[in-house]
Amino acid sequence: GATIGILGGGQLARMLAAAGARLGLKCHIFSPVADDPAFDVCAARTCADFLDEAALAAFAESVDVVTYEFENVPARTAEVLEAHRPVRPNPKVLALTQDRLIEKQFVRGLGVATADFADVSDLDALTRAVAQLGRPSILKTRRFGYDGKGQTRIVDGVDLDDAFNAVGGAPSILEGFVPFAKEVSVVAARGLDGAFRAYDICENIHEHHILATTTAPAAISDATARAAVEMTRRIAEAADYVGVIAVEMFVVSDAEGERLLVNEIAPRVHNSGHWTLDGAVTSQFEQHMRAIAGLPLGSTRRHGRQVVMRNLIGADADKWAQILAQDGACLHLYGKKESRPGRKMGHVTEILT
Ligand code: ATP
Ligand code: MG
Ligand code: MG
Repeated sequence: GATIGILGGGQLARMLAAAGARLGLKCHIFSPVADDPAFDVCAARTCADFLDEAALAAFAESVDVVTYEFENVPARTAEVLEAHRPVRPNPKVLALTQDRLIEKQFVRGLGVATADFADVSDLDALTRAVAQLGRPSILKTRRFGYDGKGQTRIVDGVDLDDAFNAVGGAPSILEGFVPFAKEVSVVAARGLDGAFRAYDICENIHEHHILATTTAPAAISDATARAAVEMTRRIAEAADYVGVIAVEMFVVSDAEGERLLVNEIAPRVHNSGHWTLDGAVTSQFEQHMRAIAGLPLGSTRRHGRQVVMRNLIGADADKWAQILAQDGACLHLYGKKESRPGRKMGHVTEILT
């Protein structure tokens, strides 16, 4: 089998490596963090900085293809790797998904709806943007935000100077507030040959800006579900994408029915796809490995009537013994050395028949 190089050593890399092992694919993890969870389960490892060009070149030479478990891979890192081996999804995808402004412009350019947004480079631009988009609205840094970090809500009475300081005065976008009925995501894959397969649309509930539960399938109309998949296919094709992609969307429900707005794109396996480990014929992790290795994509068929995935955050993971005692609960722990509030420690999946 081939050897797959993975940038990043968190739980996503760990689950990718485990899925690869089942297919006889070896994994070589590259991560700057020595005690990362993926190091427990991979065949080879490099612990070095993402800007260490000699280490990157040696890593690339030792693998057949390079992929990543997170989108904040420096552009220079991708460039160095690409000189040696194919990087999948391609580095253009990284540039697109690292920056909320570029991402939204790309999505809009495909004729796919998003929240209204404005480029905010300084306080003056923020003042103009709030005049245009109104309150409430949401100010988000263009880069490096996750789990709601790097964003702040601009409601009535909020001082714009304070709001801009709250995001560190960094280049940002202002988004109009979307009064959504639901949040859903599409997890799908595009193969090296252009084949495209999507899982059931998932419905996501966040608590304290962190994903709490995912339920598949989402309770949305068939027409909305088809539209969500088509949007994702259009995005993947336009980006010449290879691998698993996740697209977060808002469902707005009004007198005219359901409408979809794309929120953000994750160029990787996604937390809202963890249910596929136990709840689908091919997990998102195996699907990603198949796609980037140039193998045929697997079936995305769901097991059971409904699948529910719950994240174990911080001390929740201490309940693992209780969960193991529950009939039908599928427990996954990520082997993180210490639990911290807000940290994703594992997840549990239940298949309802
Ligand atoms: P993730 O951890 O998913 O990467 P993130 O920090 O990149 O999150 P977003 O997904 O953009 O941030 O926003 C986090 C959450 O905030 C969304 O899931 C949604 O609940 C809410 N939210 C974001 N943008 C809007 C909006 N324009 N209108 C209403 N709610 C929003
Ligand atoms: Mg995000
Ligand atoms: Mg998000």
